Amino acid sequence: MANRKRVLITGAAGFLGSHLCDRFIKEDFHVIGMDNLITGDLRNIEHLFKLENFEFYNHDVSKFVHVPGELHYVLHFASPASPIDYLKIPIQTLKVGSLGTHNLLGLSKAKGARMLIASTSEVYGDPNVNPQPEEYWGNVNPIGPRGVYDEAKRFQEAITMAYHTFHKLETRIVRIFNTYGPRMRLNDGRVLPAFIGQALRGESLTMFGDGSQTRSFCYVDDLVEGIYRLLFSDYALPVNIGNPDEITIREFGEEIIKLTGTDQKLISLPLPTDDPKQRRPDITKAKALLGWEPKVSRSEGLKITYEYFKSLPEKEIQHKDF
Ligand code: NAD
Ligand code: UDP
Repeated sequence: MANRKRVLITGAAGFLGSHLCDRFIKEDFHVIGMDNLITGDLRNIEHLFKLENFEFYNHDVSKFVHVPGELHYVLHFASPASPIDYLKIPIQTLKVGSLGTHNLLGLSKAKGARMLIASTSEVYGDPNVNPQPEEYWGNVNPIGPRGVYDEAKRFQEAITMAYHTFHKLETRIVRIFNTYGPRMRLNDGRVLPAFIGQALRGESLTMFGDGSQTRSFCYVDDLVEGIYRLLFSDYALPVNIGNPDEITIREFGEEIIKLTGTDQKLISLPLPTDDPKQRRPDITKAKALLGWEPKVSRSEGLKITYEYFKSLPEKEIQHKDF
């Protein structure tokens, strides 16, 4: 159909990007996926390749981005997102958040598209206030190991607001808090796939530090709904999207042990540098502006995610190299 709205989704072969592609296809958009596959996997979107309203470009968005034809929306989700990924490829992480974002803002301006960027709760660093409202400026160590990700995302927000203010570009900023679900990589090092992978392999669960640090886990379908609503809202300032149900990593490990029925235990390993001690979104804005709040409880979401990981080929479950 010629009159479909056209949306470019970067990071399309990744965890969140692939779920966004599915949602926009379901809403009858023409979806253009773009990814250089540095942490993504084409299997996440292979079911879309047969559709006439889906196209895919294998491209590094830190280099000049060209897309033929009209574009109405751009969603910039390309970026390594797991600490072990961005520690392994720190320069690419800085580039995709800065140069990549600049390229996509330029593209959006040229096409008259509305652009939404995937920011993160990491802009708050190791926060001194809990929960974190959007007004909190954060506590980030720019030269620590996580700085490559945190500062790239902070720059990304700054340049996006600058294009909004100076070029009158339509922009949206979502600050995403820890999100999980099917299509996460089992070996991406994030706590949920790490714990489930260890349980499936019959290994001890590696809790970093004493496990008293907290996170708040959001199921992917809830996140996608929040992003969809934000894109079509008229609000240009950052909005937190996440699930405020906060839990310590020790309690989370215990939940995974119960869920998987493993007879393994939690063992403590050193806490990584600058690991945030607490994290919980204040979602007052998302509720008021978007009428959004999460619907999927952790127990429901974890069950679905565990079934997904269990269904992976045994070879993949056993392959634990990062
Ligand atoms: P992911 O690693 O699964 O997906 C990222 C995708 O981006 C991958 O497919 C990767 O190949 C691609 N990519 C990376 N650099 C690229 C480049 N230069 N050019 C083209 N493609 C590139 O990670 P994810 O969890 O799906 O995260 C997606 C986005 O959401 C990221 O921007 C991340 O910072 C943000 N985010 C995610 C979470 C979360 O909990 N999952 C939390 C906060 C923010
Ligand atoms: N974590 C852990 N064991 C692991 C991986 C992570 O205890 O095998 C901890 C990590 O130190 C952090 C929390 O779990 O406190 C969440 O880590 P993740 O990498 O999932 O995300 P982020 O730190 O970016 O929130």
